[in-house]
Amino acid sequence: MYTSPISSELAGQKVIISGGGIGGAACAVAMALRGAEVELYERAAEFREVGAGIQIGPHGWRMLKQFGLEKEMVDLGFLPKRMVFKDAISTEDLLTLNFDDEFEAHYAGRYLVIHRSDLLGLLVEAAQALGAKLYNGVTVTGAENTENGAVATLEWAASDGPNTAEGDIFVAYDGIHSVHRKRFVDDVPVGSGYVAYRGTSDRSEDTEMSALEDVVGFIGPKVHFIQYPLRGGKLLNQVAVFESPRYLEGLQSDDIPEDWGNNDEFRGAFGHTNEFIQGRLDHMWLHTWWQMSDREPLMEWADGNIIVMGDAAHPPLQYLASGAVMAIEDAEALASYAADAVNSGTLVWSEVLKEVEAERGPRCARIQTTGRFWGELWHVDGLARLTRNELFRSINVTGWTKYADWLWKYDVADRHYIKNPEAGQLPKEIADWRYRVGEIAKNI
Ligand SMILES: Cc1cc2nc3c(=O)[nH]c(=O)nc-3n(C[C@H](O)[C@H](O)[C@H](O)COP(=O)(O)OP(=O)(O)OC[C@H]3O[C@@H](n4cnc5c(N)ncnc54)[C@H](O)[C@@H]3O)c2cc1C
Repeated sequence: MYTSPISSELAGQKVIISGGGIGGAACAVAMALRGAEVELYERAAEFREVGAGIQIGPHGWRMLKQFGLEKEMVDLGFLPKRMVFKDAISTEDLLTLNFDDEFEAHYAGRYLVIHRSDLLGLLVEAAQALGAKLYNGVTVTGAENTENGAVATLEWAASDGPNTAEGDIFVAYDGIHSVHRKRFVDDVPVGSGYVAYRGTSDRSEDTEMSALEDVVGFIGPKVHFIQYPLRGGKLLNQVAVFESPRYLEGLQSDDIPEDWGNNDEFRGAFGHTNEFIQGRLDHMWLHTWWQMSDREPLMEWADGNIIVMGDAAHPPLQYLASGAVMAIEDAEALASYAADAVNSGTLVWSEVLKEVEAERGPRCARIQTTGRFWGELWHVDGLARLTRNELFRSINVTGWTKYADWLWKYDVADRHYIKNPEAGQLPKEIADWRYRVGEIAKNI
């Protein structure tokens, strides 16, 4: 892990960040690595994440490696051998992505699964080692542009810290319920009707899963179920997701119950799945569940010296396993575009933030909209399920990388979406894929 900046382009620049989730912490690392002075304010009393796993594709791997965290993330995480999609009713294998040498060469990176708190801990530690100042128990209630930068308003939970923090820029990484997003749009999260239950368990006490070395996703009508190892294989991470009938009923009567997806609905929702999955539900936590929602894509992120990033700008549904990676990409775009501006002789922060917005807006829109479609495809029933399965089996033969390259080969340095803003639209490959589902359906 680096303990000093790798370059000094941003020396003398001060960055104020609101939110110490994976995105905010990654931003502190990316900016401090270029020599910037960083202050990060986190509302919670400590830096913490849900006690479950997260998948980091090669698009995230490459950046974390550049942050100097390769050894640490491998030591703490798990490198799965494959990703296997299976049918949730028959459990037959549908599509397998091998995470082998060929994968690593193609994507210049690996596929990692890691405990969320381990990843956050690594980023927080790296940021602090680089001299960033990270504060807990501080709510950022607002931010305004000033003549030379931006100022954030602070509320301290336990001490009498200063009421404001001033810097050259203010970056809001304050999550899906961001207070700063309102500066750009007056919207609300879009509920999906799907709810996630999570659970981790000790594999030494779970012999049924002791041989698992893959990320496995069982996909089926209105449900999916994910499993993968964590912490060098010691822990098992499981996620059980289903569409809530009470949410759908509530939609019709315009009265959605607050606790939709609760324990009353949980087991019954998997009644049509294979008995293996039903048995695994015993390992899920029941005290809490996550109602899944995203927001409509946002194209305006920057106003003067203020910008929203991470889930504050682009909360996705989780199907492409890229929300946290997108937040890290935002951080790397901000730091590297600012460094590029210094190297070409003109750092005007408001222009850099607009450049970040122009690149990242379409990229994140594409992930959000494709993610919705990808989830739909997982959850189809009847003839659509059979054709989806047939399609997945055929991709095993014809190759899957053409569907994943846009997501996993992306490098912020290429400024691909600035050059091709239309690339943010639902991609042609997916339109073709949709078409192929129809074609296969006709021949079945
Ligand atoms: C079930 C599920 C599975 C997922 N799987 C994956 C995956 O496999 N791979 C992946 O890349 N992504 C995944 N994601 C998405 C990913 O978790 C998020 O996109 C990512 O964590 C967002 O990070 P963030 O830092 O932008 O926001 P958050 O993690 O929401 O962090 C925001 C932080 O800001 C703080 N905060 C809020 N308001 C204030 C304020 N006013 N002042 C100060 N602090 C404030 C909060 O306390 C919090 O710490 C998944 C999500 C879900 C729900």
